[in-house]
Amino acid sequence: VVSGVLDRIRGVVGPKGFIDEPEALAPYLVEWRGLYRGAAKAAVRPASTEEVAAVVRLCAEAGLPIVPQGGNTGLVGGGVPFEDGESIVLSLARMDRIRAIDPLNHTITAEAGCILADLQKAADEHDRLFPLSLGAEGSCRIGGNLSTNAGGVGVLRYGNTRDLTLGLEVVLPDGRVWDGLRALRKDNTGYDLKHLFIGAEGTLGIITAATLKLFPKPRQVETAFIALRRVEDVMAVFARARAASSDLLTAFELIPRFGLEISIKHVAGVSDPLAAPYPWYALLEVSSSQTETSLREALEAFLAETIEAGLVADGVIAASGAQSQELWRIREAIVMAQNHEGGSIKHDVAVPVSRVADFIIEASEAVARRLPGIRPVAFGHVGDGNIHFNLSQPVGMDTKAYLAHWAEMNRIVHDAVAARGGSISAEHGIGRLKRDELRHYKSPLELELMARVKQALDPGNLMNPGKILAPEGSQNGRRAAT
Ligand code: FAD
Ligand code: ZN
Repeated sequence: VVSGVLDRIRGVVGPKGFIDEPEALAPYLVEWRGLYRGAAKAAVRPASTEEVAAVVRLCAEAGLPIVPQGGNTGLVGGGVPFEDGESIVLSLARMDRIRAIDPLNHTITAEAGCILADLQKAADEHDRLFPLSLGAEGSCRIGGNLSTNAGGVGVLRYGNTRDLTLGLEVVLPDGRVWDGLRALRKDNTGYDLKHLFIGAEGTLGIITAATLKLFPKPRQVETAFIALRRVEDVMAVFARARAASSDLLTAFELIPRFGLEISIKHVAGVSDPLAAPYPWYALLEVSSSQTETSLREALEAFLAETIEAGLVADGVIAASGAQSQELWRIREAIVMAQNHEGGSIKHDVAVPVSRVADFIIEASEAVARRLPGIRPVAFGHVGDGNIHFNLSQPVGMDTKAYLAHWAEMNRIVHDAVAARGGSISAEHGIGRLKRDELRHYKSPLELELMARVKQALDPGNLMNPGKILAPEGSQNGRRAAT
C-alpha cells in the first residue's frame, strides 16, 4: 500500500520534488544540533499549495504520517522524523515566493518556504520593516517561524511572530485548504483560527502562506552597551529605559561577565568595549522612524542620568554602524563560545519581567548547591522576561558525567520558573525535546484541552505525531498501539 501511495505522491510533485535516495535524503533527517537522527520514506517538496493539498490527501487516505519542515533550524527536534522511518518529511523549501506587498496597508504575503532574510529584504525594498529578527534568519523559513511562534531580538517593540500575523493559508490534515489570508488589523468574527496553527509546530496542519504586518523603516538606530554591578540594577535600568523612551526601546539584552569572557576567548572579533570588568552588561537598542529629535542625545542623557543614580557603572554608545555591529557580536557570540567550554545544559525560559532578577539569583544558587563549580550563563531577551539560562559544566569535569545531570538540572531550573508563574519554553517550542517536561508542568486541564484541539483537527494523528503531545499509552510517543 505504502509504495503505491509513494508512487502517487511522486506523480503529484514530479521527480524534482521527491527525494528518497539515501544521500540526498540525509539532510532532512538530522536536526541542527545533531541531537536526533531520524528516518523517513521520502522527503517531498511540493511547489504549490495545490500540490501540498494533493500530497496530504494521499497521505490521509493511506494513513501515512507527515513531518512538515521549513529551514530545519528548530532546536527541539520538531522538524525531523522519528527513527522508525514510518513517515514522510514534507519540505516547504520550494514554496519561497513573495506573493504580494501592500505598502499602503503595511502588509506582505509570502509563501511558507520564504527564507526570513529574503522576506526582510523584500520589505526593505519597499521602504518598510519586517521586524522579526533572529540568529538563524539566513536559513529559517517563515512557515517554521510561524509554527514555532519565533521570537528573537525585536519582540520588545514589535511582538513575536504571533503578533506579526494577520492571516494564514493552511492545508488541513484531510487535504482541504483553509484560505484565511486576510490582511485586516481588526476582525472580530468569532474564534481566531489562525492562532491555533501559529506555534502548533506542525501538529495541526501545514501552513502554506501568511499575510504579515510591516512597519515604518527606522531612520535612526542607536546602540548602547552598559555595565552594571547587580542583576537587580539591570532590570531597574530596563524599567527606566522603557518609561523614558516612550516606545522607542527596540531591544534589551542581558550579558553576564562570564559570557563576555568566553566570547573574547573563543570568538574572533569580540573584545571588551569597557576599561574595567563588571559582573553584568546590557545591550540596548533604540530606534525611530522620525528624524527631528536626536535619539543619540536622548540616549546620552539617559546614560548620564542612570550613572548619576548609581545604577549604571559604565557604558558606551556605538559611534557608527560598524561599532554597533561589534557590540551585537558580543551578544551573538555567547552561544558559539559556550560550545568551547564543554557540556552545556540549556534552558529557554520566561518569567514575568519583574521576577527576572530574583529568578536568576535563586536558580544560579540552586544549581551551584547541587553541582559546585557549575557555570551559569544567564543571557538574552530579559526585556521580554525571556532568559536563556545555559549551564556550562564545571572546569575539568568529564563532559559525559556532567550531561548525566541534564534532567536533574532541568527540574531545578524549571521548578524555579514554575514557582514564578513562568514558562519552560519562551522561544524554541516543545517538539520532541521538551515533550515530557511539558507534561510535568502544564496543568491536566490545559493538556486535556490541547489534546481535544488536536483530536478535533487531526483525528487520524497524521500531522507531526508525537511532537508536543504524546498520545496516552504510547511507548514511543507516536501513536497509541492499535
Ligand atoms: P523548522 O526547524 O524546519 O521547523 C520547526 C517546527 O515547525 C517543526 O515542528 C516543523 O514540523 C514545523 N514546521 C515548519 N514549517 C512548517 C509549516 N510550513 N507548516 C507547519 N509546520 C511547520 N528561535 C527563536 O524563537 N528566537 C531566536 O532568537 C532564535 N535564534 C536561533 C539562532 C540559531 C543560530 C538557531 C540555529 C536557531 C534559533 N532559533 C531561534 C530557533 C529556530 O531558528 C526557530 O525555531 C525558527 O522559527 C525555526 O524555523 P525553521 O524554518 O528552521 O523551522
Ligand atoms: Zn533567543
